[in-house]
Amino acid sequence: MRMTLISRAAASAAALAALAAPHTAAADAKCGPEALGVARTVEIDTTGGPGFGFEHYKAHDFLQPKEVIFTFDDGPLPSHTRTILKALAEHCTRATFFPVGKLAVGYPEVLREVAAGGHTIGAHTFNHIDLGKAGADKAKDEIERGFSAVARGAGGGTAPFFRYPFLRDSKDSLAHLGGRNIAIFSTDIDSFDFKVQNPDNIVKTVMSKLEKRGKGMVLMHDIQPATAKALPGLLKELKAKGYKVVHMRPKDQVKTLAEFDALIEKDVKGLPAAGQEKPTSSVVKTIPSN
Ligand SMILES: [Zn+2]
Repeated sequence: MRMTLISRAAASAAALAALAAPHTAAADAKCGPEALGVARTVEIDTTGGPGFGFEHYKAHDFLQPKEVIFTFDDGPLPSHTRTILKALAEHCTRATFFPVGKLAVGYPEVLREVAAGGHTIGAHTFNHIDLGKAGADKAKDEIERGFSAVARGAGGGTAPFFRYPFLRDSKDSLAHLGGRNIAIFSTDIDSFDFKVQNPDNIVKTVMSKLEKRGKGMVLMHDIQPATAKALPGLLKELKAKGYKVVHMRPKDQVKTLAEFDALIEKDVKGLPAAGQEKPTSSVVKTIPSN
């Protein structure tokens, strides 16, 4: 997962270039009427740890008919996450990502590209373990190390938004998240993209579930090659059928805990965060041959 210092620096240069050209209103101007765009942005007050997604938590039904929210779990992985970012950018639309902590510290440059695209970044534990089976201390450790790792990878500005791996919660971890004012996201529409494994069938699965339900928060995975391939077709189909994208943003950024930030720093053993490396030209230099 960890690249060499030289290739990391090169990747970081690309991430910096992306940061230098953020997703602005001017960039949106390239999107014509055929693009999905963002119809509505909602700000979520995470005080008390509200739950969203009707598969598990039914307290807040804020979507109107034909409204859809995109969510992507388990990344970042350079190739597939970038393909997904490109498809979303081509429609000037936005999503929420729930990255895995260990990948976030492994590929900080990719996570910074997600942030630069105007997307919201939550967290999805550090090791992607089943918290339904974990004890209270283990669950707290996985949740908090996940948030610290994602914040380090993204360079800050991440959301107090959490999704359970396998959508399996536990009483203790729910209480912990509530006390930390972290919102919990299940899903309305599970694409089962990791099982479907075929781009056309992923589009069909999501569209048929959406048509049946009329609206919803869709769960997909930005580490799945078939999802990356399916997304352009899915976005086109959603536009053709009159769906509108809702983007979620947090009222406040997540406040990570210092002890877990320190654990992450120890774990990465001084590996620099994206954007902090020296430029490649200062690391690798061609020297005169004679
Ligand atoms: Zn997951």
